[in-house]
Amino acid sequence: MRIATYQGAGEPRLGFVVNDRIVDLQTLARRKKLSVPKDMVRLIEETPTLALRALGREADAWVKAGRESSPVSKTKLLAPIPRPAKNIFCMGRNYAEHAREGGVAPPEVPVFFTKPPTTVIGHETPVIHHRVTQSLDYEVELVAVIGRRGRDIPAAKALDYVFGYTIMNDVTARDLQRRHQQWFKGKSLDTFAPMGPWIVLRSEIPDPQKLRLSMRVNGEVRQNSTTASMLFSVAQLIETLSAGMTLECGDLLATGTPEGVGMGFNPPRWLKVGDVLEAEVESIGVLRNQIGAPAR
Ligand code: MN
Repeated sequence: MRIATYQGAGEPRLGFVVNDRIVDLQTLARRKKLSVPKDMVRLIEETPTLALRALGREADAWVKAGRESSPVSKTKLLAPIPRPAKNIFCMGRNYAEHAREGGVAPPEVPVFFTKPPTTVIGHETPVIHHRVTQSLDYEVELVAVIGRRGRDIPAAKALDYVFGYTIMNDVTARDLQRRHQQWFKGKSLDTFAPMGPWIVLRSEIPDPQKLRLSMRVNGEVRQNSTTASMLFSVAQLIETLSAGMTLECGDLLATGTPEGVGMGFNPPRWLKVGDVLEAEVESIGVLRNQIGAPAR
């Protein structure tokens, strides 16, 4: 079951994506005499998963019966959570081979950093090649969307706190990342967190450590690995991150990237204006963004 945020007439709307069609959640709920929130975070907070799955099945039937829906191809998808309430939690060096291509040993404990809400854009929205960087890079990542508030969550129960999964491209200015030592600046420029195209409910991904993930640049496969290669699993990351720190509905946890980034090539292969990036995670989909020029 895939839930997207998309641009309606004037305001963002939620929809179930069924095959290549999108069914508006409000319209569907109204026909069933139900009321559902209009934005993703409130939907996560207020709608029981069972009710949501029932509505999703209804959306399937709706599309099969040829009832009211629109083609995804004619819909402007937004990031599932267009403006997160806080920074995105991210993992550095969570795949051993990626740590090595960066010239460092794999870490013994999770390395956390964050990206501000202003980095977030949706599927098919351009990533700006800001003038301040000359070494723009990509990173495909699995993202866990937190579905339940909690602190001190044990790994054994951690996946119960996940609402669903989506994809992020952790776009990075490597020169800024190095120059400022802390990774924050180089990872935090506007448009540096393409996310989506939608959220897949946790019930459809029983084991998040068994997903292939890849990145293509202009059709050429650059990254191609599996989440089985993570040093710290999604469950372990939630346990460590939530120790003494509350996680809330709609929080986003990006779980790191495998080897194959532009920085790892000799010479490095930096992104240029016009390049098309396709970040793919098995069972979720393909997140596509083109590199755009900065505004004049
Ligand atoms: Mn990353």
